[in-house]
Amino acid sequence: MAGNRTFTMIKPDAFEAGNSGAILKMIEEAGFKIVAMKATRLTPELAGKFYEVHKERPFYKDLCAYMSSGPIIAAILEKDNAVEDFRNLIGATNPANAAEGTIRKIFAKSIEANAVHGSDSDENAAIEGNFYFSQLERVL
Ligand code: GDP
Repeated sequence: MAGNRTFTMIKPDAFEAGNSGAILKMIEEAGFKIVAMKATRLTPELAGKFYEVHKERPFYKDLCAYMSSGPIIAAILEKDNAVEDFRNLIGATNPANAAEGTIRKIFAKSIEANAVHGSDSDENAAIEGNFYFSQLERVL
């Protein structure tokens, strides 16, 4: 059965541009409930840990530098079929390929600075939520 939680980050490009509120509005209007949220900032080392699965990819170093370049918002979201529905709401990794009306189509600047993160599986949603939030911050 599909899980009901996913994890997201509003990435440095969208935070810096002042688009956090508009993005959170789209997320809530799509039926997701915010069950944990904070503004924070990754160090390059923590970004490296978060994206460790990509460490062999050519863009890994740039991605870690970019993700630690400014503040972000991290959040755990709740909805039926959360992972798949959220991936549909954000659109393709490359905004040039993202469907009209998706968050990345509207707000992303490039394939790297693509406005938001969305977990790609129930398992990773749990791992990523636990990376950012302690048990005490995951009370809902
Ligand atoms: P996602 O699941 O849609 O976020 O995409 P991936 O898991 O494949 O990649 C993780 C993140 O790495 C993306 O969201 C982008 O920020 C970045 N990224 C992916 N592909 C590329 C690329 O070809 N070049 C660069 N510079 N960054 C990329």
